[in-house]
Amino acid sequence: MTVVNASEPSVASTELSVWPASTTELAHGDIAVGGVPLTEVARRFGTPVYVLDEAEVRERCRTYRHSFPDAEVLYAAKAFLCRAMTHWVDEEGLGLDVCSAGELELAVTTGFPPDRMVLHGNAKAPRDLDTALHLGVGRIVIDSPSEIARLAAAVGPNGHQKVMVRVVPGISAGGHDKIRTGTDDQKFGLSIADGSAQHAITRILDQPQLQLTGLHCHLGSQITSVEPYLVAVRRMVGLMMRLYEQHGLVLPELDLGGGHGIAYRPGEQSLDLTTLARRIRAELADTCATAGLPEPRLIIEPGRAIAGPAGVALYHVLAVKHTGEHVFVAVDGGMSDNPRPALYGVRYAPRLVGRHSTAAPARVAVVGRHCEAGDVLASDVDLPGDVYPGDLLAVPVAGAYHLSMASGYNLVGRPPVAAVRDGHARLLVRRESLDDIRSRDVGL
Ligand SMILES: *Cc1c(COP(=O)(O)O)cnc(C)c1O
Repeated sequence: MTVVNASEPSVASTELSVWPASTTELAHGDIAVGGVPLTEVARRFGTPVYVLDEAEVRERCRTYRHSFPDAEVLYAAKAFLCRAMTHWVDEEGLGLDVCSAGELELAVTTGFPPDRMVLHGNAKAPRDLDTALHLGVGRIVIDSPSEIARLAAAVGPNGHQKVMVRVVPGISAGGHDKIRTGTDDQKFGLSIADGSAQHAITRILDQPQLQLTGLHCHLGSQITSVEPYLVAVRRMVGLMMRLYEQHGLVLPELDLGGGHGIAYRPGEQSLDLTTLARRIRAELADTCATAGLPEPRLIIEPGRAIAGPAGVALYHVLAVKHTGEHVFVAVDGGMSDNPRPALYGVRYAPRLVGRHSTAAPARVAVVGRHCEAGDVLASDVDLPGDVYPGDLLAVPVAGAYHLSMASGYNLVGRPPVAAVRDGHARLLVRRESLDDIRSRDVGL
């Protein structure tokens, strides 16, 4: 096997800094999360499987509540949603940010109060709006001019709905082009720069059944510095000031979206929430005082930072192939359960679990089982040089945008989710079976 190339800094994949806080090393190279050995999870539920640490999810919710005590914290459901997750988020006092009738309805089946939900979407289907109105969703975030009349008509002349407007503040931030949403060259929101946000707001104010409660912006994802949020506060308060001058309008809410960055590999930077909270609060107080406006109530919408670090993906190695310079370690999952490396070039730090190896590390690519050369889960990672078929690999920070972005490619079936807590594991979402796939296939 290729010996580790010393010129590229190698990440010590055995380091547990990006793993859930409950993680412990056991004998024989095993690892426990939530008090449950990962080898046991793999044996009981098969692989690939997602392990979700309930205490880590709850602790992350609490950290947000403590860091932003005066703010409304909405968990962005698109990062990862299942009924148990919704229940935990509810118990921890967070609201929910949903993007479709599906997310909304699933959450409501757990008893989650719809008035603590906000509906987003750059293109809401009639069913999304109808469901939101029917169930009584708290706020709907308007994202395009045509939505205003549609929504007003659906609400009806005697109805009433709280709305916000998604504003593009003209800020470039985020970990990758495909997840930057604060600039004028992408599909989300209404621009301040070209006046479309102001124009939409004027039209909303003409609709008596729509009550505008505030402005919303979401700059992007995987943002690791505070500055973009401070610029956003200044631009949003600037717009609020112009709205006050123009319409005498005082908006009680300001939603700064999510996008708080996390570390996927040891040594990577994450966004510090205490600093973020402190500096946003100071900036908001300053800019509002200067503008002569009362401070709006802050809303934030973290997704990844709550679910991501609480999840671990487990795979079995199916094949190890040496081709010239390269070593490919192929596992029993891949781009159908984690499309993020292929989509955004995200890098992960997988490690061997359940066996202690004294072999020298080798630089390998962990690849999936799908019929696509781009089906790579982690390139240029170090694994013990004797990694072989049957080994168990764990990928930390797999709780957000894995299962929620999973596909049906190659009819492999989407993996199950097992929750771990206090030494017990239980199934939250079962594996997608051939029966599930067959039952949708009704043409023959
Ligand atoms: C995706 C999204 C979020 C959450 O983003 P994270 O990067 O997961 O924190 C919040 N708000 C809106 C509107 C989003 O689209």
